[in-house]
Amino acid sequence: MSDQEPRLEMTDQDRRDFLKAMLGLGLAGGAALGGWGALEFLVNKGTADTWHKSTCRFCGTGCGIKVGMRAGKITDIRGDEDAHNKGVICVKGTMLRALPDIPGRLLRPRIRKGDAFVDASWDEAMGLVARNFEEIIRRDGPDAVAYYGSGQLYTEENYTANKLFKAGIRTNNVDNNARLCMTSAAFGYTTVFGKDEPSGSYEDIDHADCFFLIGSNTYECHPPIFERIRRRRDAHPGTKIICVDPRRTRTAELSDLHIPVIPGTDMLLLNAMAQVICEEGLYDRPFIEEHVRFADGEKTVALEEFRAFLDRDYRPEKVQERLGVSAEMIRRAAFLFARSGATMTLWTMGINQGTQGTAQNQMLSGLHLITGQICRPGATPLSLTGQCNACGGARDTGALAHALPGGRSVANPEHRREVEKLWGVPEGTISPNPGLTAVDLFRAMEGGKVKAALIMCTNPGQSLPNVGRYRKAMDKGFLAVAEAFEGSETARLADVLLPAALWVEKEGVYGQTERRYQLIEKLLEPAGEARSDLRILVDLADRLGHGGLIKARTPEAVWDEWRTMSASTKYNFAGITYPRLRKLHGLQWPCPTEDHPGTVRRYVGGDDPMVTPGKKVEFYGHHDHKAVVFLLPYVPSPELATPEYPLVLTTGRVLEMWHTGTITRQIKELAASAGPARFQLNPADAHHLGIREGDPIEVRSRFGAVKGIAALSDSPRRGVLFAAFYDPDLPINLVVADHYDPTSREPAFKVTAVAVSKVTA
Ligand code: SF4
Repeated sequence: MSDQEPRLEMTDQDRRDFLKAMLGLGLAGGAALGGWGALEFLVNKGTADTWHKSTCRFCGTGCGIKVGMRAGKITDIRGDEDAHNKGVICVKGTMLRALPDIPGRLLRPRIRKGDAFVDASWDEAMGLVARNFEEIIRRDGPDAVAYYGSGQLYTEENYTANKLFKAGIRTNNVDNNARLCMTSAAFGYTTVFGKDEPSGSYEDIDHADCFFLIGSNTYECHPPIFERIRRRRDAHPGTKIICVDPRRTRTAELSDLHIPVIPGTDMLLLNAMAQVICEEGLYDRPFIEEHVRFADGEKTVALEEFRAFLDRDYRPEKVQERLGVSAEMIRRAAFLFARSGATMTLWTMGINQGTQGTAQNQMLSGLHLITGQICRPGATPLSLTGQCNACGGARDTGALAHALPGGRSVANPEHRREVEKLWGVPEGTISPNPGLTAVDLFRAMEGGKVKAALIMCTNPGQSLPNVGRYRKAMDKGFLAVAEAFEGSETARLADVLLPAALWVEKEGVYGQTERRYQLIEKLLEPAGEARSDLRILVDLADRLGHGGLIKARTPEAVWDEWRTMSASTKYNFAGITYPRLRKLHGLQWPCPTEDHPGTVRRYVGGDDPMVTPGKKVEFYGHHDHKAVVFLLPYVPSPELATPEYPLVLTTGRVLEMWHTGTITRQIKELAASAGPARFQLNPADAHHLGIREGDPIEVRSRFGAVKGIAALSDSPRRGVLFAAFYDPDLPINLVVADHYDPTSREPAFKVTAVAVSKVTA
């Protein structure tokens, strides 16, 4: 694609000053979000000769962008008006224009020699990786090695890694950093609907009358989504936004109702809302009778038992004190949710990262099911994805320890047989035992059970909870790390560093929140000697003697194999081909044939091709074609405040930084704007502790201690401390608890009991 587009000229200095003015002073965070469009426009330089359709490589919004190029270099980035984000992007996407000149790139393979790294050839580095893997597998068996990937790898890369390790090496120790952010959502959808991934789409925002934002700072973490919500409310006065968050974020400030719950108590709120809905007769009996089954564990129960369960323990007056908000507020939320023309729930890590993460996901869908707020335009529960390709690359490909491609499971003998046949390996090749999930994988390295790991495109040395423990564990094993930047906390722990190509330096497909697959075409040669992760995996397969298994060796060939595998599942996207993706702004699955337009609303007749003809709504994932509402008791977090640890720490992201900041900290405009991370402390708590703005403080938990600077803010409610996790100089995950949800095994990053004290010289 190529066109000439006159743009406003700005010098680099203008752009930096503008970004600093907007972001450094918090104006981008404080101005009306209508400013985003202007921000994106103003920071574009207008120096491109050609424009290329692409997709941002950061968050799960999956923004369509146009990459402007001149003389073989990226000179500009702008939002794509024809994509689902309607031209709106955030500063992270804009600053992708800094590629390929972002400092700190790892340009050639490196091998550890003592405490230092020395440059090596690809052959030396890959030879060393293969020899270590071979030797360990021969001596200790295949489960002594592991793969730990990323929701930022391309779908083709995670698919290939999954196949190599599960069918070649024959271990299910394949997990992904998506375990840290969204497996609770995956288990929630799978248990409720029988299939993973959401029913709705971003388009539902344009039809909703009530937005229930829970555990999501949408304004800062998914800006174009919040912009679309804001536009909907502007165009339809009366539209309500409810925000559930222990912090008064900018999202909360722009909402109509802010419910500042105590961290870790969301299940109390959801059950209390359900109690009000049932008691006040706000439920949709005809929808329930036709489409819903109630269950207490495995046992089917009646609606009346669900109601009795709620009446017993979850009346608003009974939960309000533990929840930290009034019964009146709970009632108001329940009425707004149930009585709006169409309610849309959006959530992210505040719900997923809890010891009840799966249950909270199940209950969010449950609220939609009992009120019939589903499968209509604007009425849907939509889990916002954190990473750009966690849905496509980790969940759909089954590159997780319990899973196989297309919603299949390693524990299911029929699924194993089917995948073995499709992969052309003998029956019995795939182990029936689920592999080790993220936290357990690094615990197994600590105990010496896992002795080698290939880590690709992720930074567990900073992102894992209780990370001090797992840094030591990584130091014990043999670590091959494929990384684009050399300074990450994980790269420092590596035995072999493999320079990885980044974003448009390679080709592949991302699958974002709303089941939309989008192709990113290669526009640049990789920096230095960097290679795509796919090429690294193919090389490893050859060296380990599994080259015959990994026959597909180009992104398009892998994609074609992968889409063929989907054809026999309800995740069918056989009709999504590279030629179609080159032309279109992505396609949403199910999409079974090459003339199918894709599916906006799943489970809806006339839209979803998997629904039986003639049916208006069909939850075909379960044998009885019904969705399940579970009876889910609230189980208190093990990290609620105690006299010894009287505050609760919660962590998160900031607008300018992407996750651990491996890339965004290297972009000087973004780094200057974000500044160093601080502890946000409520002034009332600070007063009680004798802490003033700018004081050095120490934060201690049962897991570790970190020193940092206090920033007093009435954003966190009293009793809550907040820290962002992008800054290695404030390594907050040293303190964060490593408990996890027993079903999804997703760590509960959002709730850690801590003690705070002023550091005196
Ligand atoms: Fe869009 Fe997310 Fe990229 Fe920002 S970071 S441009 S919101 S995809």
